Amino acid sequence: MTDVLFDYDRPDASGASCTAHAWAKVPAPLQPAERDALKARARQLLAERSAVLVAHYYVDGDLQDLAQETGGCVSDSLEMARFGRDHAAQTLVVAGVRFMGETAKILSPHKRVLMPDLDATCSLDLGCPADDFIAFCDAHPDRTVVVYANTSAAVKARADWMVTSSCALPIVSHLKAQGKKVLWAPDRHLGGYIQRETGADMLMWNGACIVHDEFKGLELELLRREHPRAKVLVHPESPASVVAQADVVGSTARLLKAVIEEDATEFIVATDRGMFHRMHQAAPGKVLLEAPTAGNSATCKSCAHCPWMAMNGLQGLVDCLEHGVGEIHVEEPIRTQALGCIERMLDFTARLNAPAPAGLVPNIGAA
Ligand code: SF4
Repeated sequence: MTDVLFDYDRPDASGASCTAHAWAKVPAPLQPAERDALKARARQLLAERSAVLVAHYYVDGDLQDLAQETGGCVSDSLEMARFGRDHAAQTLVVAGVRFMGETAKILSPHKRVLMPDLDATCSLDLGCPADDFIAFCDAHPDRTVVVYANTSAAVKARADWMVTSSCALPIVSHLKAQGKKVLWAPDRHLGGYIQRETGADMLMWNGACIVHDEFKGLELELLRREHPRAKVLVHPESPASVVAQADVVGSTARLLKAVIEEDATEFIVATDRGMFHRMHQAAPGKVLLEAPTAGNSATCKSCAHCPWMAMNGLQGLVDCLEHGVGEIHVEEPIRTQALGCIERMLDFTARLNAPAPAGLVPNIGAA
């Protein structure tokens, strides 16, 4: 059961100022000629530097298209980690947020990892300072420490397991089956969802994604009445009142698969609207509606778009390739200590996805 929700000491209401800083750094829209020139330059530099572009679904559509065109990848954070580790390129350009670049560097210390803007972070990472987190873990030595990918290298260094939203359910189910009690950080909504689904004993950190936290259950109910045939796709970083109305709950990769494979023609989607670029490409003709963020309790943050993801732009991509700015470093021994929990997850998911031996049926599937 969930008996304690740990709330870290917030020195101020820093979420607002952090996002203001991020929005101020979001690149302005480009004129078509300038945009084409930057894309051409980025293509050329990727080839000249033998670099590969690894992009998250939430970043600018031009960066996603470039990644696809040039043999890179556009995916969720689990696949980004795998792809960067396994690709032969010695330079990885990670278009996403900082923890994604750090994960790539932890897995591939001999590769050069660049990012278009090193200030691109995440409210979950910011809301889980390593010192407070380590003290929390030390106070509960009987628990297996499971952290979401959206954390710093120093937090991962204290963890037993890292998970992403693609594999959190089977990993926590596996730990529960072993009789383990879990200390979970940092996303309280994802943790709550996993706890409800698995029945595991989970002690929670009180973090949230500023984008998904804004989706509103009541307004979603009203929108569903207007679109009764629409299927509702929800990322589990959303509040329980939103998850409860979902036809499909899952990672960005899972939601993309649902748009392609489900027989509905209309979908209400509760995740960052950067995702719509790939969904429209993969399922042209399907109607995608943004899940509502605005309601009586709405704030000016309610736009369903992550300011840190939005900081990734074409100019930043060209600059990091051309001048080597935005290089990620993860110091030892933090890197080696953080590697253990990431490799444990990757080994587990590799076994999960391996073909079952003849005559056997796998008893667990990817979330
Ligand atoms: S969308 Fe949310 S979880 Fe993803 S990087 Fe932005 S703040 Fe973090």
